[in-house]
Amino acid sequence: MDLLQELRSRLGLLQQNQLLRARRVVVGACRPQTAVLDGDGSRSMLAFCSNDYLGLAAHPAVVEALERGARQFGVGSGASHLISGHYLAHHRLEERLAALQSPHIPECRALFCASGYLANIAVLSSLADDETEIFSEELNHASLIDGIRLSGARRQVYPHADLAALAQRLRASNARRKMIVTDAVFSMDGDLAPLPRLLELAGQHGAWLMVDDAHGFGVLGERGRGSLAHWGLRSEHLVYVGTLGKALGVAGAFVAAHATVIEWLVQRARPYVFSTASPPALAVALEAALEISTGAQGESRRAALIERIAQLRAGLAVQPWRLLASTTPIQPIVIGDNAATMAVAGALQARGLWVAGIRPPTVPPGSARLRITLSAAHTPAQVDQLAAALNALAAQPPDR
Ligand code: PMP
Repeated sequence: MDLLQELRSRLGLLQQNQLLRARRVVVGACRPQTAVLDGDGSRSMLAFCSNDYLGLAAHPAVVEALERGARQFGVGSGASHLISGHYLAHHRLEERLAALQSPHIPECRALFCASGYLANIAVLSSLADDETEIFSEELNHASLIDGIRLSGARRQVYPHADLAALAQRLRASNARRKMIVTDAVFSMDGDLAPLPRLLELAGQHGAWLMVDDAHGFGVLGERGRGSLAHWGLRSEHLVYVGTLGKALGVAGAFVAAHATVIEWLVQRARPYVFSTASPPALAVALEAALEISTGAQGESRRAALIERIAQLRAGLAVQPWRLLASTTPIQPIVIGDNAATMAVAGALQARGLWVAGIRPPTVPPGSARLRITLSAAHTPAQVDQLAAALNALAAQPPDR
């Protein structure tokens, strides 16, 4: 079959199975109340789907820093980091990020990357090889899965949060090098990985632990330093990835690890070496975002976020749907069926509420869900509005 024909038929199948996805065009800045394109005009929506957990994406001080950065450094970096694209702003940002994780990783250094997806691929494809066995948590993010594939390592997937199954697989392995790889906060479920036990198991079996803290950095731990701080961990066998486009509100990610690991990534991680460095102005904006996140304003934003989470959970009565047990800003409600989930998301949309419906392959078949994300920027009244709409729809579900 011709490729075009084949793609058309595959797209048709996606549509039949309620799996076709569409992008909504946002007209304004990333804020809870935002405008989206609607026909020839736009309409206002109350959004509960961004990962802008601290409300920094449109913060005036961060916007001003981006402008200042562009005036100082221009827009483009002009080259990859190893050629001539590594600027003072990148350098300063890395020093600050390393200092934040240094209580947890001896001789800590940090590497700023263009995105979390690339950071995960960079780490896995350069630290693991065909003599490595990787123990990968079942609910890991796609970028970890892709990085493992690219590394050529042997892969053992262990069931979600099943430490006994992981221990058994570690015991059975005779690989030269072992690495446990996990999300710290599961992106579609919102629960936390048991990092202290994972680090203990890693120690017992001579394994490394790689932690993807995309949804924990800026949110968890003292001064928002993330999951290693939350759990009080320390080891030179930790590789930590934090993202900067979620709670920090900008873009990019960083790897924090022992200086030797970082030096190896600088030399050999292909997604890092062979890609144009991200604009230095972004690093200036990130310095401003970090200043806020790690300071008094960050603490009060995290306190507000915790209040909104408790308020939503207390206000929801959505049986027979299942509100997952999550203490983080990710509050999923599992409905199960794809069409039923999208019908509820559509009914919310008709009420001006924007909540993402998540379907396979992002989540396992039969577990389609509404993924509500909360931000410190949401007001208590906005959270009440969402809870009331969801309660009404659970009591009287819309037709599919
Ligand atoms: N890891 C996890 C757990 C994520 O949720 C995401 C973003 N969806 C990423 C990595 C990728 O990060 P980025 O968006 O910066 O590429």
